[in-house]
Amino acid sequence: MNSNAANCLFCDIAQKKISSDIVHEDEKFFVFKDINPKASFHVLIVPKKHIESIDHVELQDKELMGELILCAQKVARGKNLQGYKLAINVGRKGGQLIDHLHLHLLSDI
Ligand code: AMP
Ligand code: ZN
Repeated sequence: MNSNAANCLFCDIAQKKISSDIVHEDEKFFVFKDINPKASFHVLIVPKKHIESIDHVELQDKELMGELILCAQKVARGKNLQGYKLAINVGRKGGQLIDHLHLHLLSDI
């Protein structure tokens, strides 16, 4: 995989160049509904920083990766979800279609 921020769907969504169904936004993360939901509630939590995948995370990103989980918790609490799943696909063979790291938050509850 090879990608860059200049040609990235999720960078464009996070910068609102492409519209999305926004659920939450803060300084570091953009959260929006998945266009093809696999659960009754399915959002994508996207760091605004362009990182291609978990395989491209560096030591300097460790705080951001912790905040990613806390962002998911905040969204889940805000929606009063009673239970949920978090998933990150890594690489084509891991099911990753968009080369900008994102955390799936799914819930039917
Ligand atoms: P992944 O396979 O982990 O890379 O997940 C990519 C996800 O992005 C899929 O679940 C798609 O349904 C979703 N997706 C693709 N394009 C858009 C879009 N324009 N807006 C919202 N979700 C999208
Ligand atoms: Zn990007």
